[in-house]
Amino acid sequence: MQVAQNINEAGQFFSFEFFPPKDKSTWPVFMERAARLAALKPLFASVTYGAGGTSHDNSLEICSLLKKDMGIDILAHLTCVGASEQSIDEFVSRLCETGVSDILALGGDGVKDANGEGQSRFFHASDLVEYVDDKFSEVGIAVAGYPGGHPESPSIAKDIEIHNSKLSKGADFTMTQLFFDNRLYFDYVDRLAELGSTAPVIPGVLPIQSLSSLRRIMSLCGAGIPGDLYCGVEKAFEKGGDEAVMEFGFDFARKQISDLLDRGAPGVHIYSLNRAAMCERLITDLKGDGYFN
Ligand code: FAD
Repeated sequence: MQVAQNINEAGQFFSFEFFPPKDKSTWPVFMERAARLAALKPLFASVTYGAGGTSHDNSLEICSLLKKDMGIDILAHLTCVGASEQSIDEFVSRLCETGVSDILALGGDGVKDANGEGQSRFFHASDLVEYVDDKFSEVGIAVAGYPGGHPESPSIAKDIEIHNSKLSKGADFTMTQLFFDNRLYFDYVDRLAELGSTAPVIPGVLPIQSLSSLRRIMSLCGAGIPGDLYCGVEKAFEKGGDEAVMEFGFDFARKQISDLLDRGAPGVHIYSLNRAAMCERLITDLKGDGYFN
């Protein structure tokens, strides 16, 4: 439970999310970018699982390469979709063998039994939390939180109530879905605290790097974007193409992250999209502004 422990003990921190590229011929480029981000000394990196059709073996291999070759602590994503006790045991044991001892337990998107009965022992993230907590006591467990509400939830209040019960089943901290309005994050943290939760809530931040990637991600993840922000991105694109969007996205992310940290967020988890330049510039400038020191 290296990551869970470090989050509690570290000062203000940053971390990155990576996704394992499907095409292995692109791995050298991926590793070169990951090495540039590792040089910034993130507290940890998270590696997605099954998302976008990547294989579970690729997830394991990337976790192992980042841990062993670059010395980064890893939070390995793990989903319920298609999982059995045997597949979970195998995945977590292999992670532990490579020195990775933290998972992000997720429901996952995909074909699931509509009423949660019959097909799988693991339906909701909470099923994974309970199982892994019981069977692998040395493993730290994070869960996903949705400051704007999970798209399938009847209400934000209900979602938070369910999230709190997920935490009480053995999760150590929350990693949030991306959001652009910091009020959503602070309201979410307050509402969890009102329910008695003291587990850290790490805000997930997506620096906007292009109009096309923004559109793709927003259509996949179900999070919202304020209208004026989206119009700002479109306007930037009309004026100066992707380069102007990068500048716009950089300015927004820098302000969003500094506001989160100024108002007490423990750190930020940055959705890198496996690209290095924007993250390098953000971290360097924020360090220059006195953050993460
Ligand atoms: P759950 O906790 O199961 O919640 C799903 C829905 O069910 C919510 O509406 C919740 O309120 C409700 N619910 C939960 N428990 C119960 C219960 N006991 N009874 C009734 N209702 C319940 N997907 C991937 O495939 N791979 C990844 O690597 C990945 N990484 C992600 C990382 C982050 C930080 C986030 C925020 C999401 C990620 N996802 C990933 C997407 C995620 O799998 C989906 O958002 C999925 O729809 C929900 O996952 P969850 O863990 O919140 O599921």
